[in-house]
Amino acid sequence: MFFTYVYVNIHFNNHHDTYKHQGMRRKLVAELRAKGIRDERVLQAIGLLPRHFFLDPAFEELAYEDRPFPIGCEQTISQPFTVAFQTELLELQPRMKVLEIGTGSGYQAAILALLKVRVFTVERHKELHLKAADMMRRLMPGNVRCFHRDGFLGLPEFAPFDRILVTAGAAEVPDTLLRQLAPGGIMVIPVGTNGQRMRKITQTAPGHFHEEDKGDFRFVPFVKGLEK
Ligand code: SAH
Repeated sequence: MFFTYVYVNIHFNNHHDTYKHQGMRRKLVAELRAKGIRDERVLQAIGLLPRHFFLDPAFEELAYEDRPFPIGCEQTISQPFTVAFQTELLELQPRMKVLEIGTGSGYQAAILALLKVRVFTVERHKELHLKAADMMRRLMPGNVRCFHRDGFLGLPEFAPFDRILVTAGAAEVPDTLLRQLAPGGIMVIPVGTNGQRMRKITQTAPGHFHEEDKGDFRFVPFVKGLEK
């Protein structure tokens, strides 16, 4: 069974998305709007995508609260406001090539896919990578390419990217990633070790970057190297 939406098809298979979940999503969208999210396409994607599919069933009742939750391997799914805020900062256009660092649950990658961009996402924990890749295959086959890689290295074989989104807190902006940004491209990255400042970095001319500060956030750390 699948439902056709404005964007890509979401295949529900034997997952359950009930009226109750849909109602909770509508409330979440209203809450995000009240907190300042303006991009209607982003709000619509959040209203469409069942976040409870990406969480342990123990959190099903809480899945539409604006909170992060544990997803295993000491990692978390970002809070919906953060997902919406980062996505909005990316100023996505259909068909763009987007690299996400930190697949985690796959929720953010799926939101990107609903905005009709070509998504490449990398995760250092093999267990999380496999689980998210499996979810993507079932939910939106062919829309998200998942890799078990160290995000510090990016994905050189697919570079350059129109957009790069980092969803873990980086001590500094990795040069390797800046080099994989297309001319005119935008990188959104939370920077800092004990709490982060959201940075929006635009490549204005080859090798020249304009940085904007977009406020305080808290992320799990961006860690070097792969985990089995
Ligand atoms: N975008 C995710 C949020 C994940 S939290 C979601 O929607 O659920 C950040 C993720 O970044 C964690 O899963 C963590 O394992 C991953 N991560 C941290 N350092 C990394 C690195 N060097 N390369 C790839 N992934 C990394």
